[in-house]
Amino acid sequence: SVPQPRPTTQPSPHSERPLDLPAVTPAPLVPTCDGRTVEYANFDHGASTPALLSVRAAVERATETYSSVHRGQGWASQVSSHYYEAAREEVARFVGARGGDEVIFTRNTTDSFNLLARALPRRTQVIVFATEHHATLLPWEARRTTRLPVPLTDRDAEALLTDALRRATSSNVLVVLSGASNVTGEYWPVERLAAIARTRGARVALDGAQLVGHRRVDLETLGVDWVAFSGHKLYAPYGAGALVGRADWLDAAPPYLAGGGATAAVTPLSTTWQTGPARHEGGSPNVLGAVALAAACAAIREHRGAVEAHEQRLTARLVEGLRAIAGVETFSIFGDDSDRAPVVTFTVDGLDSSLVSAALSAEHGIGVRDGKFCAHLLVDTLLSDEDAEVTTAVRVSAGLATTDEHVERLLAAVAGLAADGP
Ligand code: PLP
Repeated sequence: SVPQPRPTTQPSPHSERPLDLPAVTPAPLVPTCDGRTVEYANFDHGASTPALLSVRAAVERATETYSSVHRGQGWASQVSSHYYEAAREEVARFVGARGGDEVIFTRNTTDSFNLLARALPRRTQVIVFATEHHATLLPWEARRTTRLPVPLTDRDAEALLTDALRRATSSNVLVVLSGASNVTGEYWPVERLAAIARTRGARVALDGAQLVGHRRVDLETLGVDWVAFSGHKLYAPYGAGALVGRADWLDAAPPYLAGGGATAAVTPLSTTWQTGPARHEGGSPNVLGAVALAAACAAIREHRGAVEAHEQRLTARLVEGLRAIAGVETFSIFGDDSDRAPVVTFTVDGLDSSLVSAALSAEHGIGVRDGKFCAHLLVDTLLSDEDAEVTTAVRVSAGLATTDEHVERLLAAVAGLAADGP
């Protein structure tokens, strides 16, 4: 069998950083507008993460020899087929897939949910909260969809869902939930909401894009039917994601990508489609993307404790530090945001968020995101009590490339901007 690369670890220059974190691509040095050169402080992990060194090594290895998967007996084809299927097994392990669950490789979370939306049986009713990222909110628009308002507390979310399920009239209902908000970082009470859905015979799809890198996901324990996530938010590069979960609706659906590999037999009169992942993975697959995604899954799975400890420490300091700055306001959905992914969204009094973001980059070498983060309905609701001119916010999201020095640099920079004012 082909050996799988192991994650490597690197010693940290920062004493509090756990030594057994998976090693990530070192941050580049970037220029500031006053002529200094500083280490890039990446506070945009919520958008995309830098690649782990073990991911890059795995891709390099899988690039040495490759040929079409599942279509040849040649040695190179066998190697690529092995890598591809080993990647599928790792992804299944990573999310605690049950026997009979399918792992379909996709481009990203958006692609996974579009695939699932096309696979829903006719007249399926979809229930989704308005808090969701557009990737999770919009793929169901061609279906009968109930959009639940932004809840005020997690109990409110349970009540809203219970009521919507009571009103649902279709025999097939899909509840779409996110694991963690890409705007506030708050974890959703997935297990409780999924239990409510299940007792009423509904199925559950989980957006794991902002969850799987921070918390262990186990489909059985959470009681969800499908999970979708993206490699580029999990320390792998772009181009690969996954949809993992129950096979029955997927096997009965028209192929997502009709073409070679998706077919069992083609005659002049009929086409018989494969069942299993091949049904939806027509064409030559993104083997290197799958290898990268799986290497990232393996590294995060094996270092889960250290990753969580590192992130919790950074998040606590970020939240406490930002809240202590006069003129800075942070946002949350449920109020109690003590347990959250390393994502914090804030505004600075009198300053446009794009200005804050540009100043952090130019003056301090700090990368953040500003805008509405592809979650317009949620951001509009969170900002509705603000001055009418405040329509966007700044988001900082930490991760494996974040150090204590980055956090302190960010806090000092935001404090400086807030003190200087408009
Ligand atoms: N869901 C959430 C919560 C996200 O944060 C994102 C991306 O920011 C997505 C879905 C969509 O991910 P992708 O762009 O990789 O499809």
